[in-house]
Amino acid sequence: MGGDVTTAAGVLPYRDARLPVAERVEDLLGRMGLDDKIGQMTQAERLECDEADVTACRLGSVLSGGGSVPEPNVPEAWADMYDGLQRAALRTPLGIPILYGVDAVHGHANVVGATVFPHNIGLGATRDPGLVREIGAATAREVAGTGITWNFAPCLGVVRNPRWGRTYESFGELSELPAAMASYITGLQGGPRVGPPPSVMATAKHFLGDGGTDGGDDQGDTRLSEAELRALHLPPFLEALRLGTGSVMVSLSAWNGVKVHGHRYLITDVLKGELGFTGLVVSDWNGLDEIFGREEFTGEEVRAAINAGIDMVMVPERWRRFIEVLRDEVTAGRVPMSRIDDANRRILTKKFEQGLFERPLADRSHLPAIGCAGHRALARRAVAASQVVLKDARGLLPLAPGPRRILVAGRAADDIGMQCGGWTISWQGSPGPITPGTTILDGIRAAAGPDATVVHDAGGAGIEASFDVAVAVVGEEPYAEDEGDLPGAMGLDAADLETLARLRGVGVPLVVVLVSGRPLDIAAELPGWDALVAAWLPGTEGQGVADVLFGAAPATGRLPVTWMRSAEQLPITDGDGQEPLFPYGHGLPLRAAGGVTG
Ligand code: BGC
Repeated sequence: MGGDVTTAAGVLPYRDARLPVAERVEDLLGRMGLDDKIGQMTQAERLECDEADVTACRLGSVLSGGGSVPEPNVPEAWADMYDGLQRAALRTPLGIPILYGVDAVHGHANVVGATVFPHNIGLGATRDPGLVREIGAATAREVAGTGITWNFAPCLGVVRNPRWGRTYESFGELSELPAAMASYITGLQGGPRVGPPPSVMATAKHFLGDGGTDGGDDQGDTRLSEAELRALHLPPFLEALRLGTGSVMVSLSAWNGVKVHGHRYLITDVLKGELGFTGLVVSDWNGLDEIFGREEFTGEEVRAAINAGIDMVMVPERWRRFIEVLRDEVTAGRVPMSRIDDANRRILTKKFEQGLFERPLADRSHLPAIGCAGHRALARRAVAASQVVLKDARGLLPLAPGPRRILVAGRAADDIGMQCGGWTISWQGSPGPITPGTTILDGIRAAAGPDATVVHDAGGAGIEASFDVAVAVVGEEPYAEDEGDLPGAMGLDAADLETLARLRGVGVPLVVVLVSGRPLDIAAELPGWDALVAAWLPGTEGQGVADVLFGAAPATGRLPVTWMRSAEQLPITDGDGQEPLFPYGHGLPLRAAGGVTG
């Protein structure tokens, strides 16, 4: 595989695994022409290129944008797809393997059957960096099972306004939580630097200020002084760099009106210069297009982005045009060769560090890790640790198992898709049984024990005074990115409000479990609820929610964001002088009841 790999004298230096990486990089770089180098800097979407393109255009990287999945969507098909593209890369003259990137942002969640962990906002509520590191390591093993070596996670954005549709991808509203949870990188990469599988390269994203935009607009403008930007949004990235993140992804947002994708000061002067980042900087999806407010990139955008310090460009569909344009820019001297070489050094270094030249194909011995019992147990523990008991006015919680009649209602009670939220199987996610898992209802049935009668009635019409307790599981339908941006009221859906009104009518004690990616405006309804638990987007292991409801696990989660009293207060953040419904850090502790396991 790979054409010209040996000489009469023996193995070419870049092929010699005994040599230091830096030496191999320089040897390889010396053998590459401009087309090879530009190819390395190009990342195409899997559906927009085929194996022949990878060989002919010497592509350096392929990605599965959220929800770009093989058919059938099973782990083996992912590994086959990966191997096919990798073999195509090995057929290029220099045989340089590709980096395949995927958004495994809460487990390898595009793959049916993978363990889906809570989204970051729930992990922020755990306040447990060690747990998050374990999740990173488990995710790496599942990703490695499909051959993939690069994950576009963790999102280290600091969310300042829950109107942002990506609120749930953030660990919290103050930089302390995203910084602490950068521990995920150590788990994912398996140590202070990227290595062979199951080490998977991390991506600290989105640099810089993604969560701070005006109005919480996705890809909007973050209007802050430099001192404020650094104080609020930089600390998680400092920690990511300290932990050795292999890559950093640039934010699609702007800083004071200038798109970060063309921001040489932030990318080159600060990130690579002052902070000494030696890994690779990747653009975000079509991130070149809007640098100057046009709809599609021209030479000007390509020049601005590459000269700003972006090393690899995610040009999902228009990668051919990108290759042409960058070639013209280099040939005309508008992008210096030194910049192209710097980008290639960074990319190739990661490929060598990952051992891709020695072991380019999927190591299928990791396949059994996908959705394995150990990872599901870890996810269940994380779900339990992420539950935040916001209210328990009558001391209802934890619920006692035993001979009781429990009504379980609400759209989200028996719905894996709603539990998982966006970035699950498809980009936007969707309600329904999209992947194997345990619903919250399944968890409640198991936790309530054989002597209890659990009646499931989604709409709650069957409520009657003879029930001992009603548990309503309500909340948000899945969404991702700007499709989740919310103007207006941010209240519960009309169907949920109807269900809750029915349940309240008969005087049965009511526990509300909220499945959502962010705080919702619930102040008007709250007095009618006896207890309220924020479950966030727990993922496939709904038993973790029941563990807390029934006291098999203690309630220790605390709010990673301030909970507004009304959407009109937004943005509201810790210490800004407004009176929230629940402050940052709120969470009622409940002891485990003991003896009950699901
Ligand atoms: C998102 C990134 C993601 C990329 C690839 C973009 O739209 O902003 O977070 O990694 O798509 O799917």
